[in-house]
Amino acid sequence: MSCVFCRIVAKSQPADILHEDDDLIVFKDINPRAPVHVLLVPKAHLATLNEVDASHLPLLGKLLLTAKQLAAQWGLADKGYRLVMNVGRGGGQVIDHLHLHFLGGWQR
Ligand code: AMP
Ligand code: ZN
Repeated sequence: MSCVFCRIVAKSQPADILHEDDDLIVFKDINPRAPVHVLLVPKAHLATLNEVDASHLPLLGKLLLTAKQLAAQWGLADKGYRLVMNVGRGGGQVIDHLHLHFLGGWQR
């Protein structure tokens, strides 16, 4: 399997997994750029947001709702946090498997 995030979904590659359900897996970014830096990853392989259509609306909603729920669980809802999705090389995307960055935990 060539996609690193598909390998993490399949548990053939280790990751620090914080949450998992039928549709999503959430694990710590290996190169954190914030005190809390995790990736919310749909289990199904979609390379980028450009591949998404109306059939993926529930999945996209679940990505955001899960980010909100995890923020509350981690005590970050009131402090605030940042959600980032890079799309394509020009947008800074390096791993071609759709994912949402959750960044937070700064002291401010
Ligand atoms: P992007 O630039 O949006 O494609 O972000 C990809 C992210 O995946 C980067 O922040 C990497 O640090 C992270 N990453 C790459 N490989 C792994 C891995 N094996 N486990 C966890 N995070 C990873
Ligand atoms: Zn994949």
